[in-house]
Amino acid sequence: MTRTLAGATLELVGKTVTLKGWINSVRSHGGLTFFDLRDRSGLVQVVGEKLAKDLKPESVVAVTGRVKARPQNLVNPKLTTGKVEVAAQTVEVITVSRELPLPIDTDGRDIDEQVRLKYRYLDLRRPRMAKNIRLRSRAVKFIHDFLTDQDFVEIETPILTKTTPEGARDFLVPSRLKPGQFYALPQSPQQYKQLLMVAGFERYFQIARCFRDEDPRHDRAYGEFTQLDLEMSFVDQNEILSLTEELFTGLVKEIFPDKKVTATPWPRIAHAEAIKKYGSDKPDLRKDKKDPDELAFAWIIDFPLLVKQTQEDFFHGAGVKYAPSHHMFTAPHPDDVKLLESDPLKVRGLQHDLVLNGYEVGGGSVRIHDPAVQEKIFDLIGFTDKQKNQFDHMLTAFGYGVPPHGGIAPGIDRFLMAALAEPSLREVIAFPAVSSGQTAVMDAPSPATPEQLKELHLKLVK
Ligand code: ASP
Repeated sequence: MTRTLAGATLELVGKTVTLKGWINSVRSHGGLTFFDLRDRSGLVQVVGEKLAKDLKPESVVAVTGRVKARPQNLVNPKLTTGKVEVAAQTVEVITVSRELPLPIDTDGRDIDEQVRLKYRYLDLRRPRMAKNIRLRSRAVKFIHDFLTDQDFVEIETPILTKTTPEGARDFLVPSRLKPGQFYALPQSPQQYKQLLMVAGFERYFQIARCFRDEDPRHDRAYGEFTQLDLEMSFVDQNEILSLTEELFTGLVKEIFPDKKVTATPWPRIAHAEAIKKYGSDKPDLRKDKKDPDELAFAWIIDFPLLVKQTQEDFFHGAGVKYAPSHHMFTAPHPDDVKLLESDPLKVRGLQHDLVLNGYEVGGGSVRIHDPAVQEKIFDLIGFTDKQKNQFDHMLTAFGYGVPPHGGIAPGIDRFLMAALAEPSLREVIAFPAVSSGQTAVMDAPSPATPEQLKELHLKLVK
């Protein structure tokens, strides 16, 4: 018999159906056994007299039986299928579950996270987690539909690549075929998306994985995270902001209809004003900070293009005066270009940060498209000729007709964390790594064998 989903039983009173799924909970009452059968659509109660003796919770079963309306006094208003139950004729146990190492019928917040991540595939059965991951999928689908409807092209860019600095440390992958050489995992697709503008796509997006070997903070996933990376040609900053605002406004309305957006249009605050007024460049503008259903979006603009170099580990080393406030491809404000020589710290950049409930959820900018200005920025941030050479392909590409362009990259994990009022990014990622860098379930990183190291031309030093 073809399989029926639990959620469909409501409409099938009087029919015989076969359900397949997990036993959610079992109870016995005067010779009758009851359990809720759970599948991807939800739960339905199964009842029977002489059911298989050993019905263990979380075992996988196939149930054949008749759907019956429950008497009025036995309707369970907590279940969408609470008006019906399935009178089982047969229950076949397909696979048996051992006792679970952690409870999954609670919200799970009080359980040791190491245990939750070791058994993440069970933790994801928890209704709260299953809901978060499903909402994530719906949010990403909304983004795909919205952008493709607006003429954006989805394009994948390489993971094994060269450094694309965003101010963090690179992850390196040794090359077997080229001894002593390394790929870097992209900190973002920044350079590729700009090259795609040179290629003439005009509107690009990607749900992109980014890799940054930075020290973990609670609003940063360790190692890798996902962002909606997008880029547009022939636009000004206002158009990038408006499109992003329209996208997220539509997304919240459709996927998070219970959420209230504090202010529309979203406030646009100059960086200096944000610092002066809120003491932060990512102010939490919620009216009621205790309300989990409030979403306070804001734009921060008019950042300084350059900041005094402080990050010792900025990839080109210390001893240089200036570092980009966003990244080295951000365009200076046209009114301030003349200050690049005389007073670089006064130059504003065409950078925009998307802030939500006190988190920096994304950033972007209008880009430099004049190779001379790009070189000037390389000089200001202290690039040696060798370092400039690493980005030669950008300057070369810009010599073949580059359109003015700009974009943004809102973090998917970060947006969902804020939208779902979750305390950690790990609550919206199926298989996250813990802050020490250990991955869920699979327990990476792990040692390489001597043979692997040899093939990679690597020797470990103690
Ligand atoms: N590449 C930037 C980032 O990952 C975003 C952008 O400028 O579009 O933060």
